[in-house]
Amino acid sequence: MTGLLLSDPLPGLVQGAYVIAALCFIAALAGLSRHESAKRGNVAGMAGMVIALLATFLLAARNAAAGEGRPLLPTMLVIGAAMAAGAVIGTIRARTVEMTGMPQLIAMLHSFVGLAAVLVGYNSYLEHGHTSGAVGAIHDVEVFAGVFIGAITFTGSVVANLKLSGRMRSAPLVLPGRHWLNLALIVASVALLVWFLADGRGAGEGELGQGLLPLSVMTVLALLLGFHLVAAIGGGDMPVVVSMLNSYSGWAAAAAGFLLENDLLIITGALVGSSGAILSYIMCQAMNRSFVSVIAGGFGSGAAAGGVAGEEDQGDHREVRADEAAEVLARAGSVVITPGYGMAVAQAQYPVAELTARLRERGVDVRFGIHPVAGRLPGHMNVLLAEARVPYDIVLGLEEINDDLPDTDVVLVIGANDTVNPAAAEDPASPIAGMPVLEVWRAREVIVFKRSMATGYAGVQNPLFFRENTRMLFGDAKAKVEEILRHLSAEPQRASESSRAS
Ligand code: NDP
Repeated sequence: MTGLLLSDPLPGLVQGAYVIAALCFIAALAGLSRHESAKRGNVAGMAGMVIALLATFLLAARNAAAGEGRPLLPTMLVIGAAMAAGAVIGTIRARTVEMTGMPQLIAMLHSFVGLAAVLVGYNSYLEHGHTSGAVGAIHDVEVFAGVFIGAITFTGSVVANLKLSGRMRSAPLVLPGRHWLNLALIVASVALLVWFLADGRGAGEGELGQGLLPLSVMTVLALLLGFHLVAAIGGGDMPVVVSMLNSYSGWAAAAAGFLLENDLLIITGALVGSSGAILSYIMCQAMNRSFVSVIAGGFGSGAAAGGVAGEEDQGDHREVRADEAAEVLARAGSVVITPGYGMAVAQAQYPVAELTARLRERGVDVRFGIHPVAGRLPGHMNVLLAEARVPYDIVLGLEEINDDLPDTDVVLVIGANDTVNPAAAEDPASPIAGMPVLEVWRAREVIVFKRSMATGYAGVQNPLFFRENTRMLFGDAKAKVEEILRHLSAEPQRASESSRAS
């Protein structure tokens, strides 16, 4: 045996490569936690994935050559074809996806992980059947849990994809007795697990027994549960769902790792699962929601669902033209920009970055206030601003900027809506009540860039637009910022200096 190990060092080398890949993934997570190191983090993640793929490929080739499993040539052909197809599809999607399409793409990728976990679970059971003893029971639980988590992740992610891409209404699906429905599905799944385990104890070594029946019934229930859990979460609570499904996909991958006896998959799954859980917790704090209440769903229902909240008369709004906005900015001493999803839609980050540079050249103190759930992805705005090379040190979080807003001359709300909605702070009946928001209305002047008076993602009307100190600049955010830039060139430098001096 020792001789065999010495003469065949590949499995040991592969384990070593897995450890290095796992360290790369940890370095990737550490790098991604800060703007400055995010690129390095990505490179570390890519390096880890290349090492993992090569090691897996070599191990599969060695096993096939040693007569363990399937013959060498078909094995290599299947793995090679899968990798090539994945690489081609992945490269095309990565090159063509719009930044605004990223959230739904990520949700779709989570659904693939879920589906893979379901298939791995079924494959493991159909190929090996039940195993006797305590180890067999553990294996059965692994199969069952892997399929359960995978199926929930699959349909949950499909619904998230549909909601984020606007192909399904973002308002929550509120069925009567929905909590009982979820509980019943979970209890029934536990009962099916007991049946599956009992079947395993009764069946002989390697036999399938009757286990396929409880396994498939549970799969249908878990698919329903995944659908219902995410369909019941609406409007402003979707950020938590995105990060929660990220976490589920990690646990599904870890479960598949146990079944495939692949240490790297277990480690990677656990990293994704736990980082997704931590992100969900951070998102819950940002929304001022408890995790359990988000999972239980139903927020964003009430009068507001479907975008009719706050439809009562809010008074009149006032408009401003781009040339007037340029004048206001030229006179300002301090400006805070609060971007939102509309900035991503308009791809306005480049002119916004140029506006920032031009105002700073004029001596204006310009900073950004970023809400943790602005846009459609955690960190969405930070990525866009980094892409446009806005200096990191002027990009501040909600808590860092809110206290400075009353002393700010002008706030430019660029394509943000829910994240600057005073109803969250002032109207306990609002579906987004309690969610911390950027308190832009406390600034001296507010200019809101958007195309119409339409509501934001949560479908809640925004009283900010009707405040005394707010003016609306209607149009595409990119076109309007570019117009301001043109007018700003015509604004004499001294205008801002003399105003500040006075
Ligand atoms: P919102 O989605 O609330 O509002 C975006 C606004 O942008 C709209 O009111 C729209 O108004 C405007 N807009 C769209 N296109 C343009 C354009 N081309 N030019 C100018 N304006 C435009 O944005 P926020 O970022 O403030 O809030 C994010 C919302 O998304 C929150 O409710 C959050 O919970 C949710 N969410 C966040 C996720 C995350 O992880 N960050 C994930 C899923 C959901 P108009 O049509 O009139 O132009």
